[in-house]
Amino acid sequence: MPTDHKYGNATRIIHNRRHQDPFGSPYSPVYNTTTYRFADTEALLDVIEGREDGYLYTRWGTNPTIRELEQGLAALESAGAALAFASGMAAISATLLAHGRKGIVCMGDLYGGTQNLLVNHCQPLGIPVTFLRAHELDQLDAALVEPGMLVFCETPANPTLAILDIHDLARRAHSRGALLAVDNTFASPINQRPLELGADLVLHSATKYLGGHSDLTAGALMTSEPLAKQVAAWRKNLGQLLSPETAALLSRSLRTLPARIRQHNENALALAKAMETHPAVNRVLYPGLETFPGHALAARQMAGFGGMLTIELAASRKQTAAVADRLKVFLLATSLGGVESLVSQPCATSHHGISPQERARQGITDGMLRLSVGLEDASDLINDLEQALSGH
Ligand SMILES: *Cc1c(COP(=O)(O)O)cnc(C)c1O
Repeated sequence: MPTDHKYGNATRIIHNRRHQDPFGSPYSPVYNTTTYRFADTEALLDVIEGREDGYLYTRWGTNPTIRELEQGLAALESAGAALAFASGMAAISATLLAHGRKGIVCMGDLYGGTQNLLVNHCQPLGIPVTFLRAHELDQLDAALVEPGMLVFCETPANPTLAILDIHDLARRAHSRGALLAVDNTFASPINQRPLELGADLVLHSATKYLGGHSDLTAGALMTSEPLAKQVAAWRKNLGQLLSPETAALLSRSLRTLPARIRQHNENALALAKAMETHPAVNRVLYPGLETFPGHALAARQMAGFGGMLTIELAASRKQTAAVADRLKVFLLATSLGGVESLVSQPCATSHHGISPQERARQGITDGMLRLSVGLEDASDLINDLEQALSGH
């Protein structure tokens, strides 16, 4: 079976399966079963007591459809193991509870849900949480006060696309006996593989690029076998598993991931270049532009620059909203990573709940529009932006 590493990503993910289908179907059927019949008590005990790897009860993660998805997810990030979850937040919360209890140090800007979880749930549980800005790297050593802590970051970050150096963060974390977890949702495993750069745990909202069609909610963790095992115990007892139906839908999506990401990258770069010279646009934040501050680092650690970009208009909050409202091909919606292009104004959506001062601290301005560039014809997307910017 071409799932080992002598084959490329696209080949491995298209041929990802665990069993030969008796009817010759290239893909496995969906096992919606919650329980599994054993030949006798001895065979059941072999599985319960861990002597045999078998299927027992789906909430435990022992389901053929979910296992097959996890095999594909692991291959994508060159990981020893992967766990699938009911959402990105399920993956993040189980990982923080399994590996962050001694303390979590966050570097740079975080997804709003993650920030909320850390402040409103982890801190009240007694877990020490420190937030450092991306430029406060020199404070990381001192923040890692004892071994066994967790460093957590996102790169590229939302919505500024700020880039953090994964290799450097892993080195610093490891020198203090800490693990590094990276939320890789924005990049996708096709453009960036943090484990290969030294990270220990990689998280995805599979709701975004991995799913890719805005029709499923799921999450993923890719890591080593021993680190996964500890998270799996939390997933099992918190009941965070996704349904086999959703797992099959996500496996279907993964088969086109390399091709989709190539086109997302291409469309976003074309849009970024067109917007860079537009008179109504102040700044274009896109890691693929040579003028972008994080470009050199992104070029070193990423294989592609992704489908997310932010444009900043020389306009008020209201004028910027009017531009978003005039778009016809881009849909005004939150989320990202689907085949359809989406637009959102961060100060009115993802960063609506935080104070203007905190937004300013994060470099988020009223004139910003965040674009999730889809797979439409790039010329249609450029024309759509141009008509919206010209005001008619
Ligand atoms: C959407 C998102 C999440 C949360 O994922 P859900 O699937 O909505 O739970 C986490 N991190 C990032 C970067 C995201 O964009």
